[in-house]
Amino acid sequence: MGGGFSGAMLAVHLLHQSSSLSVAVIDPGSLPGRGVAYSSPRKFHLLNVPAGEMSAFPDAPDDFLRWARIHFDAGMRERSFPPRSVYGAYLGNLFEKARFEAGEERLQWIRDRVLSLRHFKGGLAIQTEQGPEILARVVVLATGNFPPANPRVPGLDLPRGAYFQFPWSPEALENLPPASCSWVQDSPASTSSWLSNRRASGVRFTSYHARDSFLTPGDKCVRLSRGRYSGTSDRRAPCVACCD
Ligand SMILES: Cc1cc2nc3c(=O)[nH]c(=O)nc-3n(C[C@H](O)[C@H](O)[C@H](O)COP(=O)(O)OP(=O)(O)OC[C@H]3O[C@@H](n4cnc5c(N)ncnc54)[C@H](O)[C@@H]3O)c2cc1C
Repeated sequence: MGGGFSGAMLAVHLLHQSSSLSVAVIDPGSLPGRGVAYSSPRKFHLLNVPAGEMSAFPDAPDDFLRWARIHFDAGMRERSFPPRSVYGAYLGNLFEKARFEAGEERLQWIRDRVLSLRHFKGGLAIQTEQGPEILARVVVLATGNFPPANPRVPGLDLPRGAYFQFPWSPEALENLPPASCSWVQDSPASTSSWLSNRRASGVRFTSYHARDSFLTPGDKCVRLSRGRYSGTSDRRAPCVACCD
């Protein structure tokens, strides 16, 4: 269940290790391996781990680097941070290669959403939105992280478009309000990445780092820099951003 990085690469590794297994990956998306992280088409959405450390094969650590030099940029270095879409294409390519080598009957991509599982004759029966039940000996849940819950912050009943629960949803980047306050409750790494979207959209902002707990802009915040996010080593602390 789930064909992001985990589901798609598990399928590839299983087929490398066994010549008798058949694997079906069920995911509502059309492209293997993309998931939330690698489906963005935006070129300014970069990997946050350098290319030299992103191989899908531990025993071939430069596999992604070599692929990216051929298919994206011949000058790519180990410490380069290419767009996440390039990494998604790499994962998709690995999946298609495995399917070509094993045959379509041994590696299927089923475009559907799983609704439920039940025990059935020593295995499991999978009910999807559209298809008949699928029978499997083993099911792996590779459904990724669920969207974040709404934080308990007064004032979240803001007008539509002023607050986004899930910063990676496509709508969160559309029609950004030019001059309103916004904040992000997440790790500094994600905040930095999210802010780069806004910067690329021409929105200036002031970023804050809240020391103790979740804070709203202007409320006991520590201002870091104007129009520029500077990271923090405290990975537990949430971040706050406020547009100029
Ligand atoms: C913005 C962002 C940037 C990141 N950048 C990096 C990076 O540079 N380097 C790095 O190593 N890691 C990065 N990560 C972490 C990255 O997400 C993980 O490394 C990895 O991609 C997680 O893969 P996953 O398969 O577990 O989850 P996901 O990629 O989220 O995939 C889960 C899949 O399950 C499917 N699914 C969910 N529910 C169902 C259902 N009921 N039925 C069927 N399918 C379902 C979804 O459609 C989705 O395709 C980043 C994460 C984010 C959010």
